[in-house]
Amino acid sequence: MKTIKISLHYPLNSITVPLVSTLIRKFNVEVNILHADISLNKTGTLVADIKGEEADVEAVLTYIQDQGIQYDLFNKKLIWQEESCVHCGACTAVCPSDALTMNKETWCLEFDKEKCLVCGLCTKACPLNVMSLQA
Ligand code: SF4
Ligand code: SF4
Repeated sequence: MKTIKISLHYPLNSITVPLVSTLIRKFNVEVNILHADISLNKTGTLVADIKGEEADVEAVLTYIQDQGIQYDLFNKKLIWQEESCVHCGACTAVCPSDALTMNKETWCLEFDKEKCLVCGLCTKACPLNVMSLQA
């Protein structure tokens, strides 16, 4: 099995394409939508994890391209040096996907890597540089 994290950039005339349901039905992959900003008569962005057999995932990428939809693959992952974190919460204010949250009982930072969009905003917000993106 292979999992990729992908950002899709829909051009104006493609936002009505039922892409996600087609991928699931046609290629037998799992699609976990992490972030979507798509509305009629606008370009749109969708970030998702796609999981399936390697050949199916490759076929998905070809299909997406054939639909005229551009994509970027996230090859990096976020590294949190938890032992150096002072749990100030500054990174939670910039995280667009709620991957970073403060536990309301312990007031400690919690990181849900499944929700992370690998956008890197937290790496700039952290005063101690304990967040970094690595390949
Ligand atoms: S890289 Fe940081 S700011 Fe961006 S989604 Fe992941 S945890 Fe949130
Ligand atoms: S900004 Fe840095 S030090 Fe503060 S909670 Fe986030 S990771 Fe920890």
